[in-house]
Amino acid sequence: MLEAINELTRMPADLQAQIEKAFKEVLNSGWYALGPQVARFETAFSDYCGVPYAIGVANGTDALQLALLGLGIGEGDYVATAANAGGYATHAIFSAHAQPRYAEIEPDTLTISASTLQSLDWQGVKALIVTHLYGLMAPMPEIIELAARHGVAVIEDCAQAHGALLDGRKSGFWGEVGCFSFYPTKNLGALGDGGAVVTSDAELAGRIRQLRQYGWKSKYNATLEHGRNSRLDEVQAALLMEKLPRLDGWNDRRREVARQYASAIIHPEVLHPAILDERYVAHLYVIRTRHRESLQRHLGVCGIPCDIHYPIPDYRQPSLIRHFRGFSLPKTEAACAEVLTLPCFPEMTNEEVGQVVDAVNSWKP
Ligand SMILES: *Cc1c(COP(=O)(O)O)cnc(C)c1O
Repeated sequence: MLEAINELTRMPADLQAQIEKAFKEVLNSGWYALGPQVARFETAFSDYCGVPYAIGVANGTDALQLALLGLGIGEGDYVATAANAGGYATHAIFSAHAQPRYAEIEPDTLTISASTLQSLDWQGVKALIVTHLYGLMAPMPEIIELAARHGVAVIEDCAQAHGALLDGRKSGFWGEVGCFSFYPTKNLGALGDGGAVVTSDAELAGRIRQLRQYGWKSKYNATLEHGRNSRLDEVQAALLMEKLPRLDGWNDRRREVARQYASAIIHPEVLHPAILDERYVAHLYVIRTRHRESLQRHLGVCGIPCDIHYPIPDYRQPSLIRHFRGFSLPKTEAACAEVLTLPCFPEMTNEEVGQVVDAVNSWKP
């Protein structure tokens, strides 16, 4: 029986052996933060993403903040983003001393699109953070084109979408910058925190590289303002290096679980994700229903774990609401009220998938 929507204890034995070996090598090396393991992983990860530069950082939220700082976004600037994506972009925007401006989402894919951005007030907007929510790549070509017309830089939040493909290009390739998290539950997860920024812009890569370590150009010589301490650990980089070759296989298995759900869960009150092809790496399998509490209760009785990603639009968070009184995005709010996440992870068995399917299908709203 499943204990959670994501069970991290099920690491394959051969991978565990590889990781123990990698861990020992770092232990014996005497170098524990931002060293040769990080450099090696940065090269491998940038190759994987199909971009020339990757910069390892401490976590995904820092990746977003450093991307904004690297692009020169700050005081007085607005950054457009969606309000249904867990608040990570919002945190990064405020920590860069800029302000978020929220765009509406597509009701079927729950990401922004060129069409939802049409009604945005672009005045003062200097950048756009596009979240590939639940692992589904947003429609990047049309978004990039629109952003270029407004002279706005595009940052991809790829924290849920490592390896998602559109027109043969991975997430992180499309925008000026792509930001990743390696939090343990992500499709590529460390054994602790980690993150990366990827870009094709050599100068931007150089600035972000400096900003992650006090703005140093060389040791103790800070030439950039707003520098941070946001280093990636050697041990995390070494473990990620062992896991990276398995990422595509894990994504395939996640998609397979998603497709099983999509074909086997047949219920008039349940809406499935709209896209299940290679654009989607099934980080989360999120259904929609107008009777969410009833389904949650039913799944609870059946012993099936579920969760809500995410229940509160960013602009309604108690910590932020004073900035956004009277502001409303109806499609965003409807999504926040109706989404429900079912268990979906690579080590899940077909039998467990079947248990979830049976539980949902037996629900009487
Ligand atoms: C997890 C996540 C982040 C933040 O990553 P951390 O490493 O936890 O800071 C950012 N954006 C999205 C969409 C995420 O899912």
